[in-house]
Amino acid sequence: MKRGRSAMSDGMGSAAPPGRVRSAFKSGTPARVHRNPFDDVLEQIERAADVLHPDADALAPLRHPKRQVIVSVPVKMDDGHLKVFEGYRVLYDNSRGPGKGGIRYHPDVNLDDCKALAAWMAWKCAIVDIPFGGAKGGVACDPLKMSDGELERVTRRYISEIFDLIGPTVDIPAPDVGTSPRVMAWVMDTFSMKKGYVEPGVVTGKPIPLGGSSGRLEATGRGLLFVTRETLKRVHRELPESTVAIQGFGNVGSNAARLLHAAGARVVAVSDVSGAIYDTRGLDIPRVLAYYRETGQVRGFPGTRLLDNQELLRLPVDVLLPAAMEGQITAENASEIHARIIVEGANGPTTPQADEILMQRGTLVVPDILANAGGVVVSYFEWVQDRYGYFWKEAEVIERLEEKMVAAFDAVWSTRERFEVDARTAAYILAVDRIIEARNLRGLYA
Ligand code: NAD
Repeated sequence: MKRGRSAMSDGMGSAAPPGRVRSAFKSGTPARVHRNPFDDVLEQIERAADVLHPDADALAPLRHPKRQVIVSVPVKMDDGHLKVFEGYRVLYDNSRGPGKGGIRYHPDVNLDDCKALAAWMAWKCAIVDIPFGGAKGGVACDPLKMSDGELERVTRRYISEIFDLIGPTVDIPAPDVGTSPRVMAWVMDTFSMKKGYVEPGVVTGKPIPLGGSSGRLEATGRGLLFVTRETLKRVHRELPESTVAIQGFGNVGSNAARLLHAAGARVVAVSDVSGAIYDTRGLDIPRVLAYYRETGQVRGFPGTRLLDNQELLRLPVDVLLPAAMEGQITAENASEIHARIIVEGANGPTTPQADEILMQRGTLVVPDILANAGGVVVSYFEWVQDRYGYFWKEAEVIERLEEKMVAAFDAVWSTRERFEVDARTAAYILAVDRIIEARNLRGLYA
């Protein structure tokens, strides 16, 4: 890592107020708190700069998204009236490659959120060392209150409005909150129709018949398996002798449970909104999955103790895997967490205050920005396969995912040891360093 003049002592000033830069890093996508999430991004950059001391000129561009676009998206609704939605696309940084980041459909989508989410995507892609920058976008709408037809029209018009800003070598969207493989299929079709040829590489997270990758759906859970295994190794433990509790049984939680169980870990508790089920002997996860598919909840699974979600978080397990939503581990419950290791499956499950408490208690927290990066890694593989026009077997996807996740884990771990910081701080240092390195190599155009 480069050392040079300190950005802080160069009179660059700190983008965050002085009191703030000392606080722990914020999680990847923190809970919607009272402050602008982009302030958290600026704070993370300053914190990494405190350790790296990059050249001030290299650091400055990192505080500014490369491109921020707001478009209006007029759509004919089913009842015949015209509604105008607001759409966004932010390309944060493309020094390491084209932008990569999801499309979010949610009533709260706004420019500052997109800026922050785009920056976090840039950090995440740098940590797993894939040739992408960070991007994010979305439309302020409520997909739960819209028909399929309305959703399709919003998607097609939004993509038409940002048509010049996306593309397989420019900026590649993917699913995010409120969007799905179905929506990605409309993105691919709209872009391809406007181009006049089929371009599957414009978007990832597509259905498999349209150029999606095998292994994409469970990629985040599988990445968590690899990261959990590597973390345990560093504390001289192995999966088969370890106990795990998982909060959330959706895409991420249920796949992580299935794969950890298959790898021999004792998954003693899982939960969803209905509550948590607990069995100290370990749950029979394939049967829990079948029960969940049948009933739509884990609650009531025979032979288990019912706990509430707070009790699950307090269980004395080796690994706690929050995989539900942001802001679950807080200043209120952090001191009651007995897990030795927390592997963040969800985005931003730990508040900054909780982070500090956990650090003091010696809990090892593996940050979301590393732990749940399996999804974007397989998105990268999908893009490679689309551009190549040749598709890999699932075993090949899994093998390459493992390679990427283990390398990223090792890089974060050695950064942690080298700078004697926590794993979250190490992840941000690594990301900022890699992006600055690319910027320095490219130099300043014109
Ligand atoms: P999902 O909607 O499929 O599942 C969410 C699960 O959490 C559901 O089982 C729901 O019942 C449960 N849940 C909600 N509130 C809860 C609560 N208070 N207590 C316990 N359980 C609760 O979502 P997902 O795709 O699995 O994503 C989960 C988290 O992982 C989110 O933070 C998401 O941003 C993050 N993430 C997802 C991916 C991905 O590939 N899907 C990738 C990276 C990060």
